[in-house]
Amino acid sequence: MSELAPEVAQIRDLLTTGQRFLLSSHARPDGDSLGSQLALGEALDQLGKEVRIVNADPAPDLYRFLPNVSRIEVSTSLELTEADGIVVLECGTLARTGVEGLAPYTVVNIDHHAGNTMFGAINWHDASACACAELVCELIDALGAELTPSMATHLYVAILTDTGSFRHANITERTFEICRRIAATGVEPAAIAAQVYNNGSLGRLRLTGMLLDRMELEDDHRIAVLTLRDEMLHASGCADDDLEGIVNLPLAVRDVRAVVFLKHTTDGIRVSLRSKDTIDVRAVAVEYGGGGHRNAAGLTLTDTTAEARAALLGQVGAAVANADGAPPSD
Ligand code: AMP
Ligand code: MN
Repeated sequence: MSELAPEVAQIRDLLTTGQRFLLSSHARPDGDSLGSQLALGEALDQLGKEVRIVNADPAPDLYRFLPNVSRIEVSTSLELTEADGIVVLECGTLARTGVEGLAPYTVVNIDHHAGNTMFGAINWHDASACACAELVCELIDALGAELTPSMATHLYVAILTDTGSFRHANITERTFEICRRIAATGVEPAAIAAQVYNNGSLGRLRLTGMLLDRMELEDDHRIAVLTLRDEMLHASGCADDDLEGIVNLPLAVRDVRAVVFLKHTTDGIRVSLRSKDTIDVRAVAVEYGGGGHRNAAGLTLTDTTAEARAALLGQVGAAVANADGAPPSD
């Protein structure tokens, strides 16, 4: 086995010498945040540690099939007297956990988002990882824990969803080596993919239809804009955690280079951005206090006026033009 990086060795030492740990991740958890936490939680169980997983929001329905998902406690404020460490996974800033009260503890930050603020006492940041779960797999090995079928399921869901079903650019040999090991535990990748992709509600499909029906195309079809209105949720009977993945659909169109998905909420407009190739939508999100990855990022638009929307679309258009090396046509 290759030599461990110093921060990984430090994390291993903290986790093996301490006894009580709390794991957390970003609010509105996705497949990678849930899978990373549950897999590491089970590795720590194997070592006989006391482990709690606390998230600000519940797992979306889509992920309720994950083994042991019910062990995740949902709370925005931490009531904990003692812990030997808090491991924050897949989260660019401590505030994005949405959980108050973590800062006084020894915080371990394990993440793959570009722009991670290195908020931990120990920081393991590797933006080359296709999912935080890749780092978790390495940590499981460093801890000497066994990769069980349930942990393999957690890691596979994390990798499958965070790579856009093995389509993003950050998939490497390491990704497939981990997937090989996952399959070797006996779990069936196709069965897991079916749980994720073939198990949605009828309402979700109807909502997808409504969103695509009203899709707007800007910038000579380079930018697709989806807008979710409350009445669509009512008409389809969907909750807003049923939306995962819909934002990627317009990328199937040859001319579409980027997608802007606008969701009106009480705090403003939550925006998901997606892009192809080298188009950097993360840079746009950062301008608005958001973040994410080059091809998948998010932000909240507090100014809900038409001008603010137009300005955002202008920034996305500039990102597209910048990457494509040509100004948008008139
Ligand atoms: P989403 O569009 O919500 O699926 O998010 C896409 C990516 O951007 C994920 O990696 C998120 O973790 C990240 N992201 C979304 N919103 C924010 C935000 N407000 N701040 C930082 N990262 C974000
Ligand atoms: Mn991730």
